[in-house]
Amino acid sequence: MTDNKKLADLLFPHITNTPEYYEQKYPKRDLSEDACVTRFAPSPTGFVHIGGLFVSLVDERLAHQTGGVFYLRIEDTDKKREVEGGIENIINSLKNFGIMFDEGVTGMDSEKGIYGPYKQSERGEIYQTFVKHLVEKGYAYPCFCTEEELAEIRKVQEENKLTPGYYGKWAAHRDFTLEQVQEELAKGKRYVVRLKSRGNQENKIVLHDIIKGDIEFPENDQDSVILKSDGLPTYHFAHAVDDHLMRTTNVVRGDEWLSSVPLHFELFKALEWELPKYAHISPIMKMEGTSKRKLSKRKDPEATVSYYHEEGFPSESVREYLLNLINSNYEDWRRENPDKPNTDFVIETQRMTVSGSLFDIVKLTDISKELISRMTAEEVYDMSYSWAKEYDADFAELMNKYADYTKDIFRIERGGEKPRKDIGKWSDVKPYALYFYDELFYEQVSGGYDFAENISKDEAKRILTGYLEIYNKDDEHEAWFNKIKSYCDSLGYAGNMKDYKKNKEAYKGHVGDIMGTIRVALTNRKNTPDMHQIMHTMGYDKVVERLKKAAEII
Ligand code: GLU
Repeated sequence: MTDNKKLADLLFPHITNTPEYYEQKYPKRDLSEDACVTRFAPSPTGFVHIGGLFVSLVDERLAHQTGGVFYLRIEDTDKKREVEGGIENIINSLKNFGIMFDEGVTGMDSEKGIYGPYKQSERGEIYQTFVKHLVEKGYAYPCFCTEEELAEIRKVQEENKLTPGYYGKWAAHRDFTLEQVQEELAKGKRYVVRLKSRGNQENKIVLHDIIKGDIEFPENDQDSVILKSDGLPTYHFAHAVDDHLMRTTNVVRGDEWLSSVPLHFELFKALEWELPKYAHISPIMKMEGTSKRKLSKRKDPEATVSYYHEEGFPSESVREYLLNLINSNYEDWRRENPDKPNTDFVIETQRMTVSGSLFDIVKLTDISKELISRMTAEEVYDMSYSWAKEYDADFAELMNKYADYTKDIFRIERGGEKPRKDIGKWSDVKPYALYFYDELFYEQVSGGYDFAENISKDEAKRILTGYLEIYNKDDEHEAWFNKIKSYCDSLGYAGNMKDYKKNKEAYKGHVGDIMGTIRVALTNRKNTPDMHQIMHTMGYDKVVERLKKAAEII
């Protein structure tokens, strides 16, 4: 028996399975050549960043548009970072945005699929089997260095301006004999297992990144830790083992992992496995003043996905916006295909930006306004009502009490060629529709109406009282407007703007002044959707009551 084999058995006496066992247990997937197998692999920290949602949308689309598989793997090897409910939070947050997994972790203690366990903390034996295999091949070794010893090495390297790390002659335990290892173990020393790198910084490797193109790196020469002293792997080793055994074809991940690529190349090589395809995504950026910076969990509420739910952005809007960030041609596609589900759009990872997308809440809101403007009044009611039930119970009560009326409100200027785009998120609904409800309207005008300054109180009163006499609820739009125009004439106001502009002195004002006064009496707003539709929705009694009250209180 070679010393390496003896060392492997010494370190891992409990490991009896072989790599071949796992290769057979997790066979190559029975999928077509171009089907992508992707995964989302978060740590259960209880926080889902918009960047995570972005990456998972790329993964999900890639898998599903190619007839592949998308699975959830939980990277919980760092137990310190884990929070209770973290896993459920990830699953539910993504589900909210229509991102569903075919396979993997489905809850705290459940999963589906034959490539599991999908939680890294439950895969200890699998990792150790492959570490044992590397030790046997002389490609890994135990390292007993303490934190202090490592710090000392770093210090000397810094002082001498040398590349920091554990490599070459700095790798103190790299060439320990079996006896030396036995001695350390006999002392009860804790150890990690390191890769015994065969790389050389002078040699180059090339990563063919799907997004960033070809990137050249020096080979890895670091004896990086692959197994920690608690028997769990580092990210790097788990990435190689899991993505190989779960038969991942495309690894889509944040570009903070780019610098680890040389190590990943060497690990795949040592394990004699084919590399997956890599797509490294730049972080989502934000403008601050004139410079760009990463969206930050601490500084930016919009960095957390729960923000969108709380503000009431329909999840479809967020999806549309993110698709637009993935591929800028999404916008043209949407314009040409206004009625198709966004899942019909085929994303192309090679067209993603290399430099990092800029997050723009104004653009998201515009996309959302567009999307909401295409919904039916019933859909708007259902979604905004369920949002209000969660975040504005008083308003939800009004919406429920006047359900039909509320739907009629949403029907105003909806459904035609050019629907109105006032609502970008469900929290906009209350400010938008507030004046329709007596309970809210009269409370608002209790401090006085917001009549235009050029109309005196007496004049406003005259306009409103006079209008009450001619108002007929059965007038269609044209008749209603003609009536207002002739009403203008009778009061000495120009019935249309052209006449007014030609000869301002001849008039007291114009149709806008009259309409504006009626508008304020009914809504206390300067701008509203079409007044005829508003009056029709409010109904005769409410219109008359409001006109009268306004004329009285003025
Ligand atoms: N757990 C890693 C992270 O959250 C996963 C990176 C990857 O997708 O490989 O950054």
